[in-house]
Amino acid sequence: MNAIAGKHALVTGATSGIGLAIATALASAGARVTITGLGDAKQIAAALQTIGGTAEHHPADMREPEQTRAMMRDITTRAGAVEILVNNAGIQHTARTEDFPPDKWDAILAVNLSSAFHTAAAALPAMRERNYGRIINIASVHGLVASKEKAAYVAAKHGLIGLTKVIALETAEADITCNAICPGWVLTPLIQAQIDTIAATRSIPAEAAAEALLREKEPSRRFTKPEDIAAAVLFLLSPAGDNITGARLAMDGGWTLP
Ligand code: NAD
Repeated sequence: MNAIAGKHALVTGATSGIGLAIATALASAGARVTITGLGDAKQIAAALQTIGGTAEHHPADMREPEQTRAMMRDITTRAGAVEILVNNAGIQHTARTEDFPPDKWDAILAVNLSSAFHTAAAALPAMRERNYGRIINIASVHGLVASKEKAAYVAAKHGLIGLTKVIALETAEADITCNAICPGWVLTPLIQAQIDTIAATRSIPAEAAAEALLREKEPSRRFTKPEDIAAAVLFLLSPAGDNITGARLAMDGGWTLP
C-alpha cells in the first residue's frame, strides 16, 4: 500500500487547471478525493469524471470564510478527517496599484491566502490527533519575487509562503509537513486570460503573446505542465518527503534565479 491509498485528500480549486491535474493524480494513487471549485454543473461533472474514483465536489465559495469552514465540517462528516490538504484555489487580476479595484484586492486575498488559513486551521487538530498530515500550498514564483500590476496576487502569495513556514514550524515535531510549490508560467485558464489580454492589446496572435510572456520572465521559455505540478505533489507525499517541511519548491524554468 502506498502512502496515499485510502487517505482523504482535499484539493481546493480543482474544477480546472493545476488543481484538476493534482486531484486526478491523487485519485489515481488511490486517495479518496474531495474537490472545491467554481463552475456550472456540466463543468463540475466533467471535472469529477476526469478525476475518476470516488471524487466528490463541494460547492463552497472560498471567498467566504464561513463557507470554507462549513465545507471543512461537511466533508469531514462525509468522508472523515482531511489527511492531505492541497490549497490550490486561486484567482488573478492585474492593474497598477493606484488603479487596483478594492473589491478585487479583497477577493484575491480571500481566495489565494485566507482560504488556506481556514482550511489548514480546520484540518490541523485531527492531523495532530492522528499524528499524520500533509499540507501543500500551491503558491507561485510571485510568492518569492514581484511583478508589476499584481499587487494583490504578489501580496497574497508572499503571505501564503509565510503561512507555510509558520505551519511547518508549529508542526515540525509531528508527522505533519507543510510545503509550498511555486510555479512559474503554467498554461491554464488563469494564464490564458493574460495571454489573451497581451494578444488583444498588442494585436498579435495568441501564440506570439504566449511566447512574449515566456520570454519576459522564464529563462527556459517553456511552460510547466499541470501534470508536472501534480507529480511534485506526489513526490512530497511519498516517503521521500517525510522530512521535507517549510520548503518552497520553485518550478519556474529559472525565473527566480537572477
Ligand atoms: P485555474 O483558473 O485553472 O483554476 C483555479 C481554480 O480555483 C478553479 O477550479 C476555480 O474554480 C477555483 N476558484 C476560483 N475562485 C474560487 C472561489 N471563490 N471558491 C472556490 N474555488 C475557486 O487556475 P490555475 O492556473 O490552475 O491556478 C491554480 C493555482 O495555481 C492558483 O492558486 C494559482 O495562483 C497558482 N499558480 C498558477 C500559475 C499558472 O501559471 N497557471 C502559476 C503559479 C501559480
